[in-house]
Amino acid sequence: MKALVKYASGDGNVDVLEVDGPPCQDTQVKLEIAYCGVCGTDIHVLHDTFRNYPPVILGHEFAGTVVEVGRNVEGVKIGARVAGLGATAVTCGECQYCRSGYFIFCSNRRGMGHGVNGAFTRYVVMRPDQLYRIPDHFGLDEAALSEPFAAAVQAVTEIAQVRIGDTAVVSGPGPIGLLCLKLLVAEGVKTIVAGAAGDDSRLEAALRAGAARVVNVGDQKLIDAVREETRGAGADVAFECAGHFASVRGCLEALRPMGRYTQVGICGKEIQFPIDQIFYKQLTVTGSVCYTAKTWDRMMKIYEQGRIRLNDLVTTKLPISDWRSAFDLCMGKKALKVLMYPEG
Ligand SMILES: [Zn+2]
Ligand SMILES: [Zn+2]
Repeated sequence: MKALVKYASGDGNVDVLEVDGPPCQDTQVKLEIAYCGVCGTDIHVLHDTFRNYPPVILGHEFAGTVVEVGRNVEGVKIGARVAGLGATAVTCGECQYCRSGYFIFCSNRRGMGHGVNGAFTRYVVMRPDQLYRIPDHFGLDEAALSEPFAAAVQAVTEIAQVRIGDTAVVSGPGPIGLLCLKLLVAEGVKTIVAGAAGDDSRLEAALRAGAARVVNVGDQKLIDAVREETRGAGADVAFECAGHFASVRGCLEALRPMGRYTQVGICGKEIQFPIDQIFYKQLTVTGSVCYTAKTWDRMMKIYEQGRIRLNDLVTTKLPISDWRSAFDLCMGKKALKVLMYPEG
């Protein structure tokens, strides 16, 4: 089968190669991948700025269909449509984080797509506990957004604990920001989405997804828009999804005293942080990284209830051989979410 492989460490060293399909062990399930999303992490693996273990097949945001079930596996049927939780591929199972569900902090963890083989190919094998059945009304394309959506579900519903009546700021209208927005809108939270130069089409998508207001910070300061929307009070919660200094500062400024700030984006370098804002306004500042299995269970209930659909965020589908264009589109601001599908 054809697979997008990081074949050696160092900058680059990624290409589509012919590899053997994985055998399905007695305790495993084999999936045929329908779609796998491209994300910033893949680009970091390409440039070797995210830890990886070559040779390894890239791709960690995926959905597909069960095509083979190991003989010791119960409760999984051939033909089941599933999203895969690749991040738990290897964990120790014994440390305090594994035991409390926060496997993401296990120091022995290796996820699919960088630590072990991922899903930019036709077949993957996984343990049955890594599979989440998706409802019939939900497309396999939108289900491929489950991994980033789970990160948004944790940030919005578990970490920040927003409530109806709150006013929220989402700064950074990329896929994660728009996924947070969808949850906030469904929770009945008035949400202001901020973007910068070049974000116009993403801000339009935010309006379509239910943002109360969008702000291009090149035209208007975020705090001015937030003041207009809150009678001068400031926002109750802010989600920093851009990973950029100006966005971090904008969020801290836009919060009211005793507001809550959640870091969802990655800056990738040290930035100046106006820490006195935290002091003078007694802000609560927290990060949100990935999710637990419990988050995925909640996400499946969200899918089942049918009030949130993700298909409008998928703007591009390309075969794996077009990975260079897919990665370029992901880095630019024109496309929302770029998916790749297997060939060969
Ligand atoms: Zn990702
Ligand atoms: Zn562990």
